[in-house]
Amino acid sequence: MTGTPDVVIIGAGVVGASAAWRLAERGCRVTVIDRADDFGKGSTGRATGGYRAQFATEINIRLSLMAREMLRSFEEMTGIDSGYRPYGYLLLTRSADELSSLLVAQELQHRLGLTEAVEVSADDALRLNPALASGTFSGGVYCPTDGFIRPLGILEGYVAAARRLGVEFRFDEEPLGCERDSAGRVTSVRTSRGTHSCGAIVNAAGAWAARVAALADIDLPVWPAKRQVAITEPFAGLPVDMPMTIFAGDGFHLRVRDDRVLLVQPRDHDSADPFDTSFDESWLDEVIALARERVPCLRSASIDRDACWAGLYEMSPDKHAILGATPEAPNFYFANGSSGHGVMHSGPLGLLVAEAIVDGAPHSLDATALGPSRFAEGRPNPSPGLL
Ligand SMILES: Cc1cc2nc3c(=O)[nH]c(=O)nc-3n(C[C@H](O)[C@H](O)[C@H](O)COP(=O)(O)OP(=O)(O)OC[C@H]3O[C@@H](n4cnc5c(N)ncnc54)[C@H](O)[C@@H]3O)c2cc1C
Repeated sequence: MTGTPDVVIIGAGVVGASAAWRLAERGCRVTVIDRADDFGKGSTGRATGGYRAQFATEINIRLSLMAREMLRSFEEMTGIDSGYRPYGYLLLTRSADELSSLLVAQELQHRLGLTEAVEVSADDALRLNPALASGTFSGGVYCPTDGFIRPLGILEGYVAAARRLGVEFRFDEEPLGCERDSAGRVTSVRTSRGTHSCGAIVNAAGAWAARVAALADIDLPVWPAKRQVAITEPFAGLPVDMPMTIFAGDGFHLRVRDDRVLLVQPRDHDSADPFDTSFDESWLDEVIALARERVPCLRSASIDRDACWAGLYEMSPDKHAILGATPEAPNFYFANGSSGHGVMHSGPLGLLVAEAIVDGAPHSLDATALGPSRFAEGRPNPSPGLL
């Protein structure tokens, strides 16, 4: 569609708020509905705050490069600091196979302009992060312009910018169903607090997006994956500018945030409810053991058990975002499925979905690779292990 329709956005996380701002900039009247009682109650408030352009597909690298420009000018645009700090991402490898897949990705990164990403030897890696135990890796890759961002600061920035343009955020309101016309277009959204007629709707419901799509009888292949974060008590043994340090083989990674160390070891957690975000204590011993083996100074750090948390990634089949509408529901737009990269990519995703709605197609970036029909058409993106 083209024009400036009234738009209803479901979900006031970082993606919904980014889209709201960009749509309002283009003259749309925007209402954002969230069933929670305030901002930040979904995954955005649980993210650890990493930013990287070291990805393995062209579309993700381009999204990151575009995001980086937006992060750099974020305060100018919104009045709030995005917290972007280029302290680097150091990915460590233990085998030739692990390294070679990172180097294949690095060739693509270089071709797309990320020339500062480099291969590092074990000695280089130790210089970049002297706290590491030598012998726990043999080499790796490093990009100095990767680093950290502040998820809730970024959300706050989008919200402030959107509100200045008249966007209404409504909480404690749950969508119950959608009216659709004979062409499949959504004409209104019925909620727990009323009915909103609309010319377009954006699904920005994060890990819960498939349930929201189902309200309009639309299938969306997005599901939750639980991720846990262990956090130490305040710990002075690691510097604030330590790069995000990731072991490519098993994904164990750590960073320093607000004088504490965050430890993550991604793995599946058995749970009867896939949306369960209670913290699985049984995982802690494993992550603590890895941390102590690989970063010996952490043997003297204590874990703040009450502050550890779990949250949900919003997974898609190829671990790439799903952006746009389908012919079956031409004004129901997805901004979903970032698979754990939604904060860092929220700037481009919000802009691209706004362009799709107002101008008929995204144009700041070729977003064909994110099209919702790619799965049915048998052209998913490659989804290499770590990147
Ligand atoms: C532990 C962890 C670490 C992460 N680290 C990073 C990182 O370093 N960098 C990064 O870029 N990303 C990271 N992520 C991923 C990131 O948090 C998500 O990709 C991002 O927050 C998705 O934003 P969103 O706005 O789509 O979803 P959300 O922030 O989850 O927002 C969705 C909103 O929709 C609302 N909602 C849901 N269902 C309904 C409904 N039926 N009706 C109305 N409202 C509804 C929710 O209340 C919520 O407010 C991490 C995630 C986790 C869990």
